[in-house]
Amino acid sequence: MYLPSWLSQLYRGLSRPIRRTTQPIWGSLSRSLVLSSQRRNPEFSSFVVRTNTCGELRSSHLGQEVTLCGWIQYRRQNTFLVLRDFHGLVQVIIPQDESAASVRKILCEAPMESVVQVSGTVISRPAGQENPKMPTGEIEIKVKTAELLNACKKLPFEIKDFMKKTEALRLQYRYLDLRSFQMQYNLRLRSQMVMKMRDYLCNLHGFVDIETPTLFKRTPGGAKEFLVPSREPGKFYSLPQSPQQFKQLLMVGGLDRYFQVARCYRDEGSRPDRQPEFTQIDIEMSFVDQTGIQSLIEGLLQYSWPNDKDPVVVPFPSMTFAEALATYGTDKPDTRFGMKKYLKRKDIESIRKFSADHFDQEILPVFLNTNRNWNSPVANFIMESKRPELIRLMETQEEDVVLLTAGEHNKACSLLGKLRLECADLLETRGVVLRDPTLFSFLWVVDFPLFLPKEENPRELESAHHPFTAPHPSDIHLLYTEPKKVRSQHYDLVLNGNEIGGGSIRIHNAELQRYILATLLKEDVKLLSHILQALDYGAPPHGGIALGLDRLICLVTGSPSIRDVIAFPKSFRGHDLMSNTPDSIPPEELKPYHIQVSWPTDSKAAKAH
Ligand code: ASP
Repeated sequence: MYLPSWLSQLYRGLSRPIRRTTQPIWGSLSRSLVLSSQRRNPEFSSFVVRTNTCGELRSSHLGQEVTLCGWIQYRRQNTFLVLRDFHGLVQVIIPQDESAASVRKILCEAPMESVVQVSGTVISRPAGQENPKMPTGEIEIKVKTAELLNACKKLPFEIKDFMKKTEALRLQYRYLDLRSFQMQYNLRLRSQMVMKMRDYLCNLHGFVDIETPTLFKRTPGGAKEFLVPSREPGKFYSLPQSPQQFKQLLMVGGLDRYFQVARCYRDEGSRPDRQPEFTQIDIEMSFVDQTGIQSLIEGLLQYSWPNDKDPVVVPFPSMTFAEALATYGTDKPDTRFGMKKYLKRKDIESIRKFSADHFDQEILPVFLNTNRNWNSPVANFIMESKRPELIRLMETQEEDVVLLTAGEHNKACSLLGKLRLECADLLETRGVVLRDPTLFSFLWVVDFPLFLPKEENPRELESAHHPFTAPHPSDIHLLYTEPKKVRSQHYDLVLNGNEIGGGSIRIHNAELQRYILATLLKEDVKLLSHILQALDYGAPPHGGIALGLDRLICLVTGSPSIRDVIAFPKSFRGHDLMSNTPDSIPPEELKPYHIQVSWPTDSKAAKAH
């Protein structure tokens, strides 16, 4: 079987023989869990009317009688037709002789993007007419019969990757957008990576794939949740932000290696890297420490990484939260670049404006000339004797520009971190490649603080990760004296400046969990009484992590948005533009839920409904 190179890369992972599970689970169950170690390329034409896919035919198929199904991509002078399926393109010759008038009529009259079935013989193209750019370019199909399976009406946009179309239009006609090469590639690569992840976790490491409910209860703290009304007056389900509580309860239940491709819901509105519903590779293990989880994830990514990319190198480097903030101004540093040069004076003005507008903070540039002399409005305020020390600390070289700011540590660092990325954007528009798109730079960020001051009331605390995260063993005593100083056993995985995963070792002691929830976080403990109770029944030490699958695939495929790796995503405002969701419900259908809509009084808002 011939695959286009992108497809064969994608499916190559399938032919790799897998190790047999040797760990018996329970007697006979273990036997049925052992998978065949013989795997082949997938059969794309089993159980269907076609004999081959459009993209797979080559000179070796010459003389074969084939049946193909596909969409009409091009037609030239009523003589040639190019048929397309997910696998590629193939040229079909429209018969010209009178005896084939009915076949010719079908193939000449069917509009572009109609779906047709043709049967005929694979023949070689006349000498000199081969198309080396087309994988099937040496052959063509001499048609005997043709059937119009379904005609295509006038399209809202052309199904060609190079045709520019707005995202709104693509989302409104998503089923057409999915016919593009790019969407086909993204979704098939996603499926392949997930399949290899399952293989790694279940077959090589004995994980159990367990589904957990999506109708659940409100969880204190964290992201806003979607509500689902119930028929009991005033009672609601919540859609879970993640299966966090369930996976911990599974550990209590002795299912000590859990994983799930889990759908999660957060009512936060979309951003380029967020969706109200998204997918996590969710993992939890008993009797594990931070290093164990990190090694598992490094192995998982290495195993499931696409074959056409440079292999993943493990172990990933690691950096503490404090170091990341102090040196990169963010907890998710893009470590593909250091970046210090090429700024022009006029850029400094826009940088100063950005700092003032977004951070209400003054920024002062220092230009170093070839002798490393200072040219800066701050020069007068920094003693001459201190300047060499600053230059040494900042490891500057001749002609560097240094941006200085002063103020509260976290705020000043975050501003500089943002400016670093702004400067990178600026320089890249000038053709300086800083962030190599083929480079994948993984980084663990560790030793986060357990608590952060609440945004709306900085005197109160909130969890930096979530309330089930265990404190760092050497900081436990500080919980009772200076909780703000406690570090946690929380770790994030960062890829090219994006957080693609996060997890922690959990609290498995009910008393400690109750103290953190009630005394430090001031949460309503009743909401979590089930989990507190479970911890009291011999809960094992445990920890886990969740990888954001959409973001990961987005980065791997180099897509501009996570919407490009989700078959049916929501728009920027959280709408499904294809089906017009969310939609209104007639009042009589709301009655069983004891719900009444109170329409906004604001006239503009009312009109919008
Ligand atoms: N449930 C967490 C999250 O969604 C991940 C974890 O701690 O395992 O961020």
